[in-house]
Amino acid sequence: MNDCIFCKILNGDLPSARVYEDDAAVAFLDIFPFTKGHTLVVPREHVGMLPEMAPEHLARLITVVQNIARRVMKAVECDGFNLLQNNGPCAGQTVSHVHFHIVPRFNGTPVQWTPNANLYAPGEMDAIARKIRAS
Ligand code: 5GP
Ligand code: ZN
Repeated sequence: MNDCIFCKILNGDLPSARVYEDDAAVAFLDIFPFTKGHTLVVPREHVGMLPEMAPEHLARLITVVQNIARRVMKAVECDGFNLLQNNGPCAGQTVSHVHFHIVPRFNGTPVQWTPNANLYAPGEMDAIARKIRAS
């Protein structure tokens, strides 16, 4: 668990552009986003894959996901979004701590799944995080 990047972010040992937190979950912007506003929602408890989560914990987490998705839609003015949740390296899971991706989508823009470390202009990531927090 000590090597888990998301546990380090949750503990404040690594920085992140946080958009939400409560006693069960934290949401922050993905550093390699597919689109602007790409957000990760992460439970505070370290659980590797979705089937290992207690159903009541998952129920609470998905409620947070819905709440954050509403905020993201408002903040980045997207027309829709993908909800993505990978389980296991074979499925593309690179961080072994359960998380949901909220990926904003815009009418007229083709859906692509390319991580992009240079998507944001300087300061833009923090500005979007502030907007989501405020929404
Ligand atoms: P997965 O591929 O496991 O479903 O998604 C993990 C996500 O975490 C990836 O989209 C990746 O860009 C993101 N990620 C990895 N390391 C960091 C980090 O240190 N900070 C943030 N904000 N996101 C990260
Ligand atoms: Zn963890």
